[in-house]
Amino acid sequence: MSEDIELAAAVARLRDIERRIATACAEVGRDPAGVTLIAVTKTFSADEIRPVLAAGHKVYGENRVQEAKGKWPALREAYPGLDLHLIGPLQSNKAREAVELFDAIHTVDRPKIAAAIAEEMARQSRRPRLFVQVNTGEEPQKAGIAPADAVAFVDRCRSEYGLEIAGLMCIPPVDDAPAVHFALLAKLAREAGVPGLSMGMSGDFETAAQLGATHVRVGSAIFGGRS
Ligand SMILES: *Cc1c(COP(=O)(O)O)cnc(C)c1O
Repeated sequence: MSEDIELAAAVARLRDIERRIATACAEVGRDPAGVTLIAVTKTFSADEIRPVLAAGHKVYGENRVQEAKGKWPALREAYPGLDLHLIGPLQSNKAREAVELFDAIHTVDRPKIAAAIAEEMARQSRRPRLFVQVNTGEEPQKAGIAPADAVAFVDRCRSEYGLEIAGLMCIPPVDDAPAVHFALLAKLAREAGVPGLSMGMSGDFETAAQLGATHVRVGSAIFGGRS
């Protein structure tokens, strides 16, 4: 495909998602400006991402520190003013690079990570926005703090590590209706006193927007399927 056609197709998909978010919000009387669309670029190359950058989209998500490190420093230089979010699991030995690279981290889910991030934030004088990941489906293989422990963990992030928590994040179980999980996350966020809700992916971002998402994370609906 020529660059022009790729650009037009990417812009069309992006605008379609934005329109669907606006329609979903209108149905519940929400201002769509309160929903940030994170374009999830994991597994896609810089060349595949460029048309969406050229379309003016500013907010992106990656799920691996190493992969992001390979792609984004050069893209950030070419397209100033980007907002890059880490949406995948973080190991404490990658906290330094994560704080260097990302403007937001959605996967704070245990004291060791909170401590490592706090230390790096102090060292680097960078303050990425932080979300606590909640394992709303209590799936053993999935990352995230248990729902019953979420409020206490947010409190501990504040009091013990001096971290400001911007919101909560969840990835519902694939076989469940997502609305139950989104509603649970919204309830926990109210209890914890945090404003942000990172929830909703390609298959369910409209439901998430209707249940209060402040950040939806959409990959394949913009960039196509991942191999
Ligand atoms: C890959 C990923 C997404 C985007 O998934 P799509 O179904 O492609 O929209 C959202 N959130 C997380 C945490 C992801 O890893």
